[in-house]
Amino acid sequence: MTLRHDWSRNEIRALFDLPFMDLVFRAQTVHRQHFDPNAVQVSTLLSIKTGACPEDCKYCSQSGHYDTGLDKEKLLAIQKVIEEAINAKEKGASRFCMGAAWRSPREKDMPYVLEMVKQVKALGLETCMTLGMLSAEQAVALKEAGLDYYNHNLDTSPEHYGKIITTRSYDDRLNTLAHVREAGLKVCAGGIVGLGEAREDRIGLLMQLANLPAHPESVPINMLVKIAGTPLGDVDDLDPFEFIRTVAVARLLMPESHVRLSAGRETMNDQMQALCFMAGANSIFYGEKLLTTSNPEAAHDRQLFQRLGINSKQTQDVSDASREEAIAQSLRQQQLSALSRDAMASRDTVN
Ligand code: SF4
Repeated sequence: MTLRHDWSRNEIRALFDLPFMDLVFRAQTVHRQHFDPNAVQVSTLLSIKTGACPEDCKYCSQSGHYDTGLDKEKLLAIQKVIEEAINAKEKGASRFCMGAAWRSPREKDMPYVLEMVKQVKALGLETCMTLGMLSAEQAVALKEAGLDYYNHNLDTSPEHYGKIITTRSYDDRLNTLAHVREAGLKVCAGGIVGLGEAREDRIGLLMQLANLPAHPESVPINMLVKIAGTPLGDVDDLDPFEFIRTVAVARLLMPESHVRLSAGRETMNDQMQALCFMAGANSIFYGEKLLTTSNPEAAHDRQLFQRLGINSKQTQDVSDASREEAIAQSLRQQQLSALSRDAMASRDTVN
C-alpha cells in the first residue's frame, strides 16, 4: 500500500462517519498488513523539568498561567535521569522519553540535555525528548548526541488551535517539526481530543498529521486529562467511542505509524483499551506517571497485556495470582462504575 499525503477533509470525514464496526474492522485489517497485531510498543516518559512553563496551553498542569497546585522542579540532575531510565528498562520499556516544560531549550541547558541523551542511549534504550520549540541547530545537536525521536504535538486542528494556545502559533509547531525531520530525527507528533473541539477539528488535526511530507513515526492520541485550575478543567467528556474512532482513522490515514495511547489512559477501562488496540493503537506509555498526571500502574498494564496475549514474550513472568488479581480488580472497577451510574441516574431522576 502506498502512503498518501493528500487526504481531503471529505475523505477523512467519510471514514469518521462509517458505522463503528465497519471502521474498526477496516482499521484492524490495515493494521495487520503493517504490524504484528499482538505487539504493542512500550515507552516510559519522565519529566526532567516540571512546571512554570511560559506557554498558556489551556489543558496543561505545567503552564505558569494557571494555579494548578503543581510542585515545580528545576532540571533534574543527569544521575537521577539515568536511574529512572535503568528502572524503566527493567520494567520493560524499550524507549525512554524525557520531557521539559519549556517554550524552547535555552542554550545553557543544551549541554545537560545532550549528555542525558548520550547516557540514556548508552543503556541500550531508544531515546525521545520533548523540550518545546527547536531551532534547526538544536535539532542537529540532539541528533548528533544520539537522539532517536523528538516529540512535538500539533494538539488540535489549525481552526481550534487559537482557543487552546495563544503564546505560540500553529506555524511555530510546523516549523519545529520541519527542523526535526530535516535533522534526520524520527518524529513523534499527535494531538489531544476532548478539548471541547468538534469532530471537524479532530478531522482537521488528523488531516494535518497525515498530509505532512512524511508521516510521523509515532502518533500519540491523547484523551484530555482534566486538571483543576486550568481553563479546560471542567470541559464536557468526549464519548469514548469517538476517541476510538479517532484512533481508527489515524491508523487508516497513517498505516505505517505507531499510534500511541498516551495521556488519559487511566480513565479508560480495560475493555476500552482493548478496543483501541483493535482499532490500531500499538504503542503506550507505561509507568506510574505521565509527566505530571498519573498513568495506569505498570503492573496492571503487564497484566492487561497478558490477558490479551499482547507482547507474550515479555509478559510471561506475570504470575497466575497477579493475573487473577487484575481480573478481580477490573470486575470491581466495573461494579463501581455501575454503582456510580445508578447513583447518577437516581440523582437525575430526583432533580
Ligand atoms: S503543554 Fe508543554 S508547552 Fe504547553 S504549557 Fe504544558 S509544558 Fe508548557
